[in-house]
Amino acid sequence: PERVLEIDYVFKIVVVGDSAVGKTQVLGRFAKDEFYFDSKSTIGVEFQTRTVTINRKSIKAQIWDTAGQERYRAVTSAYYRGALGAMLVYDITKRQSFDHVARWLEELRAHADNSIVIMLLGNKADLTSKRAVSKEDATEFAEEQGLFFSETSALSGENVESAFLMLLEEIHGVV
Ligand code: GDP
Ligand code: MG
Repeated sequence: PERVLEIDYVFKIVVVGDSAVGKTQVLGRFAKDEFYFDSKSTIGVEFQTRTVTINRKSIKAQIWDTAGQERYRAVTSAYYRGALGAMLVYDITKRQSFDHVARWLEELRAHADNSIVIMLLGNKADLTSKRAVSKEDATEFAEEQGLFFSETSALSGENVESAFLMLLEEIHGVV
């Protein structure tokens, strides 16, 4: 007989950040269970899931992607509704994408729950020769804003798994 996996919790996670920073690639690296895309949806959202075990509990991460709505203030409040965690992604080679992190934080704070756990991700960490944002600047900013922080590469996979697990563990801890 087919084994049915019991799910203890479903955690909604949203991924935000400027266009082309690698949000979809980062998400694709981590979530390989299912792919959901509602092409008829007026809000045009999509999500992918992956189930992990934390403290013997089976946790399904339902991770939402912006699907090309990254223009400032174009992401609707429905996208943020019920989110327990957020990955706020910038590109370490694009200074502007880091400068816009403050705007994305405003959006999260305006539309998401106060208790949302936010992790800042400096993606494309494999492109070190084109680096435009230092790890020190990002670490300092994250500390000031009370965010978790990691540099990732969706290309090599570096730190992607650990960043999502850290976020999920933190949410699990505070649930
Ligand atoms: P999104 O618009 O934020 O969803 O960005 P995408 O995931 O579509 O990625 C935008 C572009 O950046 C694509 O050409 C990706 O192949 C590339 N990309 C994404 N992540 C990485 C990474 O970690 N390293 C490198 N070198 N390229 C990446
Ligand atoms: Mg995308």
